[in-house]
Amino acid sequence: MDCEETRDLIDGYADRELDLVSSLRVERHMQVCEDCMRTHQNLQALRCLMHDESLYFRPSARLRKHIRSSLRDEVKVERRLPLVSWRWLAAAASVALVAIATLIFVQRLKGLSAEDLVAQEVVSNHVRSLMEPRHAVDVPSSDQHTVKPWFNGKLDFSPPVENPADQEFPLVGGRLDYLGGRSVAALVYQRHQHYINLFIWPSNDAQEMAEKSTTRQGYNLVHWEKYGMEYWAISDLNETELRQFAEIIQNRLQPSS
Ligand SMILES: [Zn+2]
Repeated sequence: MDCEETRDLIDGYADRELDLVSSLRVERHMQVCEDCMRTHQNLQALRCLMHDESLYFRPSARLRKHIRSSLRDEVKVERRLPLVSWRWLAAAASVALVAIATLIFVQRLKGLSAEDLVAQEVVSNHVRSLMEPRHAVDVPSSDQHTVKPWFNGKLDFSPPVENPADQEFPLVGGRLDYLGGRSVAALVYQRHQHYINLFIWPSNDAQEMAEKSTTRQGYNLVHWEKYGMEYWAISDLNETELRQFAEIIQNRLQPSS
């Protein structure tokens, strides 16, 4: 993605209106482009400010008194009393504008990145799959030659299915899942009493991404991109073993022809 395309999408990105794939592409571009990153930071700062309580101006008692008395004066002149004096509104607006201008420079950036949002959905889908064990897999099988073809016609891509049972991560099965506004493949693996969900969908980026791990709500997550696919593994397994799982899967992946 280049700057021009990013500029077209950046408002939608800041308002979280983009689909998952576009969000990730914008985010990738911003990681390498300071200009676009700055544009986004300004948008974010403005967005935060619109929710900032300090913008709700509370007039002092003296000002209230002053306004009331000037309103009373006006009533004497006009029969119809305007609900709010325009002069007062203009004063409040300029106070708010000064506050915005000042705070834009001092406000620290908040807000969630697209990756945070994906991680959040990965956690919810993982938890949901464990709550109803019957629905954890639609195709219960440890045979990748059964699981892989099961996805035919159900997804617009063919997920790589590996079964590293010999390395103590046996495949349990697969199911369709929905993540970031699209259908994705979910493969379920087991390590002793722990389940691992591996979510797979096509990435739009040509470049690969080395694995990254994070922790959310007590779950470990590892994600990476390889050969045009995006992978998110999640489990209550400890980080070392989950990374080990991720490496085993990565090493088995073949470039799709
Ligand atoms: Zn740029």
